[in-house]
Amino acid sequence: LEPAYSFMIRTRTPGGVVTPKQWLQLDAIATTYAERGLRITTRQAFQLHGVIKTELKPTMQAINAALIDTLAACGDVNRNVAVAANPLQSEAHAAVHAHAAALSEHLLPNTRAYYEIWLDEERIAGSGSEDEPIYGANYLPRKFKIGFAVPPYNDVDVFAQDLGFIAVIRDGEVAGYNVTVGGGMGATHGDPETYPRLGDVIGFVTPDQVIAIGEAVVTAQRDFGNRAVRKRARLKYTIDDRGLAWFKSEVERRAGFTLAAAEPFEFVHNGDRFGWIESGDGNSHLTLRIPAGRIWDRDGLTHLSGLREVARLLEAEGEGEGAQFRLTPNQNLVIAGVPAALRGRVDGLVERFGLDGYRSASPLRRNALACVALPTCGLAMAEAERYLPDLVEKIEGLLDTHGLRDAPIHLRISGCPNGCSRPYLGEIALVGKAPGRYNLMLGADHRGQRLNALHRENIAEPEILASLDPLFADYAAMRADGEGFGDFLVRRGVVPIRPSIPLLLRT
Ligand code: SF4
Repeated sequence: LEPAYSFMIRTRTPGGVVTPKQWLQLDAIATTYAERGLRITTRQAFQLHGVIKTELKPTMQAINAALIDTLAACGDVNRNVAVAANPLQSEAHAAVHAHAAALSEHLLPNTRAYYEIWLDEERIAGSGSEDEPIYGANYLPRKFKIGFAVPPYNDVDVFAQDLGFIAVIRDGEVAGYNVTVGGGMGATHGDPETYPRLGDVIGFVTPDQVIAIGEAVVTAQRDFGNRAVRKRARLKYTIDDRGLAWFKSEVERRAGFTLAAAEPFEFVHNGDRFGWIESGDGNSHLTLRIPAGRIWDRDGLTHLSGLREVARLLEAEGEGEGAQFRLTPNQNLVIAGVPAALRGRVDGLVERFGLDGYRSASPLRRNALACVALPTCGLAMAEAERYLPDLVEKIEGLLDTHGLRDAPIHLRISGCPNGCSRPYLGEIALVGKAPGRYNLMLGADHRGQRLNALHRENIAEPEILASLDPLFADYAAMRADGEGFGDFLVRRGVVPIRPSIPLLLRT
């Protein structure tokens, strides 16, 4: 008898948008097949944890029946494309989402194996349908990540992406995108050959050039990425090994055009905006805080039930036709496109099912990110998601002591240095080293434009709190007006100044 192996399934949902009907279908799938509810990832995908091996196929088929797939959500391919989760339903935002979805489709592998294995599609030998003009016979050397940001918000952490697009909007329309290359969070403890890196801005493209530039960057990495040392196989290392100027000219040669000079842009922060926002078309959009992205009915929580009721309401009412659920890259959820007539009822459900925590949560709690780590990630060295509530409470206690409860500090925790919660862009970050022990990283800005730096290595909770306490005291006493915690630590020399993307790029 085979052990009951269990698996994680991750959806491909570019920009993290699903309809209320799809939400209900995913809820039913999670309730039937997964152990741990639905989880929102930092790439705006759903993860289902604890799917038993024998139930993988019916689960995949049920996901497909909801018109969602899992194709290329894992593996050495382009992953789920992240898109700014702008709660406002502007035409520009819709255009950005459409460009991102088109690029996601374009970069899908052609293989029919997915359909043959999971959807019982008949095998077609020698039909030529397996040609992979983008990925070739060996696919990419490693995973590849793309994000689309819409300033002034950098919720996708565009500089953490292998390939980033920063929308330039003029008169309410998308004029084009500044292109970034070479971002990435992953590193390996004790290996100086690996490191987190921010992307470089290499120029500007018009919307009709997005697909060509995307394909050029991906195929350049396919052909020149390191295939001998897997840890060095990300685009950031290809660029550092060969030079940014070389990479840019290689991309331009492949695309068949020269990039225009980058346009000015400005980000104000990389978090989400919580609560209701009205978009002027009669609809409202509600951003809810979902701690660590986990949606389930457990430990006194009823979030899965609550969102089911919201989806039923939006699905049942004809007026709610345009409503959507949008996952944010910060593991939160926007209930978007709610007609005025339904707003009160949505609010009632949100309150009844305890989804209104965003109202009273401190900024630290609202903005905190945690990867899944233990017990489901095989790479985890320490706790992250399960530790986050305790850690936040203890840090809030310190903040209270110094009158800093309202300080908008960004906290991130990862169970290992792979950095799925983008920890190297946290003003305070813990990166797991061993059970109960972390590297304490400090000093990123809250715009996603400066990496943090190692402050204390391999320490446990008492030392973490003891390290933060005097820094909070200094911050309370000496911060400038509006100065972020990370900026303060850099100004005071507590952490070394690291190269950062200019706050306002001017050309
Ligand atoms: Fe990612 Fe590491 Fe966290 Fe696993 S433990 S989810 S690999 S950061």
